[in-house]
Amino acid sequence: MNHLHKYFRDLYLGVTTISIGMAVTFRHLFTRAVTVQYPHEKLTYPPRARTMLVTDIDSCNGCLQCSRACPVEIIHIQTVKVQPEDNPPDMPDGKPRKLHVVQFDVEMSKCIHCGLCTEICSTGSIHWENQHEEVSYARDGLFRDWSSYPLDERKRLLDRDAVIKAEKAKKAAEAAAAKEAAAAKESVEKPAPKPVESKETSPKAESKVNKEGETPQPPVTENGKEDA
Ligand code: SF4
Ligand code: SF4
Repeated sequence: MNHLHKYFRDLYLGVTTISIGMAVTFRHLFTRAVTVQYPHEKLTYPPRARTMLVTDIDSCNGCLQCSRACPVEIIHIQTVKVQPEDNPPDMPDGKPRKLHVVQFDVEMSKCIHCGLCTEICSTGSIHWENQHEEVSYARDGLFRDWSSYPLDERKRLLDRDAVIKAEKAKKAAEAAAAKEAAAAKESVEKPAPKPVESKETSPKAESKVNKEGETPQPPVTENGKEDA
C-alpha cells in the first residue's frame, strides 16, 4: 500500500512541476527577448561604457593632459610649435591652432580602461567608441597611431623644431655670457669699499682705555667681590 501511495505522489509532483516550468516558458514566448543573436545583432553601449578608445585628432590641441594622466604611460604625444608660415587649419571651436600634433600613439594592448584620459581631456578629443571588438594575435595589432601628419611631414616639422630650439638655446647662452661679462667689468671698475673698523679699534672701545693705556677695572669691595 505504501509503495502505491508513493508512486501516485511522485506522479503528481512530476506532472505539476513540469506544468509550472512549461507555463513560465510559454509566458516568455510572447514577450520581448532580452538576449541578442551576437554577432549578427549588436547592442548599443551606454555613452560612458569603457569600450575602445578613439581620438578625434582635429580637435586635439596637444595639451598632453591625457598622456600625463595615464597611469600606465601608454599615450605618447609629440608636438611642434606652429610657425607663422605654417598657416594650419583652425581648431574646430574657431581658435587658432598653436601646436602641430606630429605624434599621437596609444598602446591599446596595455590599456586598463580606467578612463582617466577621457575625463581630463578638455576638448573631448579622446573618447570611448561604441565597439569593443578589438582582437589581435600580436601586440602591434592594437597599436594606435592617430596623428594625421604623413611621416615625411612629421620628420620635417621635428627637424625644423630642433633647429629653432638650438638657435634659441644658443642665443640664451650668448645673452647669459654677455650679462656675466658686464657684471664682471662693473665689479672691476667699482671702487673698493672702505674697510670696516673692528670693535677693538673703534672710538667707543678706545674711550674705555685710560690714559695709561689700561682698561679701567671695576672696583673691588672688602669681601674681595667686585662691585655690581
Ligand atoms: S583608459 Fe587606457 S589610455 Fe586612458 S588613461 Fe586609462 S590606461 Fe591610459
Ligand atoms: S587628446 Fe585631449 S587631453 Fe590629450 S592632448 Fe589632445 S586635447 Fe589634450
